[in-house]
Amino acid sequence: MNRKKKLLLVAHCLLNCNAKVEGLADCAGAQSALLQLLFARGYGIIQLPCPELTIYGLKRWGHVKEQFATPYFRRHCRQIFQPILDQLLDYKQNGYQCNYLIGVNGSPSCGVEYTQSAPAWGGELSTCEDLPNKLNILRNIPERGIFMEEIAHMLAGHKLSLRFIAIDEEDPASSIDKIIKEIEEEK
Ligand code: SF4
Repeated sequence: MNRKKKLLLVAHCLLNCNAKVEGLADCAGAQSALLQLLFARGYGIIQLPCPELTIYGLKRWGHVKEQFATPYFRRHCRQIFQPILDQLLDYKQNGYQCNYLIGVNGSPSCGVEYTQSAPAWGGELSTCEDLPNKLNILRNIPERGIFMEEIAHMLAGHKLSLRFIAIDEEDPASSIDKIIKEIEEEK
């Protein structure tokens, strides 16, 4: 049998960009350039659930990290990751390798190297007298998104260690090169 027993986790929208906040997707359906390179290297792909779609749906606005940094959203993240964690433990016990998680830089949920931040965001938009300034305070901060933070805690609790890497949707080509270079070192 040809099975390589190599897996990696990917953020949901890398396989299904329809889950993203409307207006943000930069591909037709999936990040096919990245996925084809992974398939060609014999990886099985475990698609993470999308924590935002599964609680706020398709009509959600774009949020920032501070809006998701709540006990409720964190609990939701832990609940939806638990079935994936169970699978990882089973795979590990049976000699499979899963060493990487590919997130999405910039996302307040799935960012790895950076996430979007605006501590003053929130409240009623229609009565906000200073909306342009409020929107302008949006910036990237060098932190993980909330889902990635919760996943890291849960993995650590089971002594599982995955390398977190990410696609940068502002520059997908060079971030795909970086991802492939990194996982090639696994051979
Ligand atoms: S929350 Fe994560 S999986 Fe969902 S759309 Fe954003 S980056 Fe993709």
